[in-house]
Amino acid sequence: MSVLNALIDAIGAERVEVIDLTAPLNAATPVIRLPAPFGNTASFSLDEISRYDERGPAWYWNDFRTGEHTGTHFDAPVHWVTGRDLEDVAQVPVSRLIAPAAMLDFTGQAAADPDFLLEVDHIRQWESEHGPLPDGGWLLYRTGWDARSDDQDEFLNASQTGPHTPGMSVECARWLAREAPVLGIGVETVGTDAGAAHSFDPPFPCHSSLLGAGKYGLTQLRNLARLPPLGAVVIAGPLPITGGSGSPCRALALVES
Ligand code: MN
Repeated sequence: MSVLNALIDAIGAERVEVIDLTAPLNAATPVIRLPAPFGNTASFSLDEISRYDERGPAWYWNDFRTGEHTGTHFDAPVHWVTGRDLEDVAQVPVSRLIAPAAMLDFTGQAAADPDFLLEVDHIRQWESEHGPLPDGGWLLYRTGWDARSDDQDEFLNASQTGPHTPGMSVECARWLAREAPVLGIGVETVGTDAGAAHSFDPPFPCHSSLLGAGKYGLTQLRNLARLPPLGAVVIAGPLPITGGSGSPCRALALVES
């Protein structure tokens, strides 16, 4: 049997489960909020064109407005100044949009400390238990933050000192960019960097290091709890927005049961 026929049979027989890692897109989908003087992104919104009415008696359709970085979305290297000469979202090779994934679960640490930062030692410890990070694959960083993703305030978790959400250290970001074989990092939070990463040196180290190394980001993922530590395959499909810095995407995982 061909590999693809075997895959379709396995999905039909539920030996391979298809798990949706995507948050629904609507007006309540949380978006990042930057302080003045920085520009901010649009929330998602629908603008109805017709709905079986005089504007279109047999058809329903909408226009929509969204940011490239709204909801579950893909960060292309050109999103950051360090990657300004690298791929835009339409230039990402489609073969890289289907990739193996490692799922590292730090839900307990993030629950105890919303400013929890992933360090290289955490990843080394995980590798000693589960094996190496997949070559050309995603590191999916679970923090339990998807449980907050229906509420903008809980999701951003901002106080007077700024947002408090988990992320990674400067050293870890550099290591993932330069040493690790991964093609990118996927997170449950509003962005790949920690909420406090504006205060790091350099600021926003995950964006700066990974995108500058031609790697990718996936954010606002859900259902990572249903993935094994190793063995899932992620299909992440951003829209090919010509020249775009990123795009909302449908992210799916294939998991063998
Ligand atoms: Mn983004």
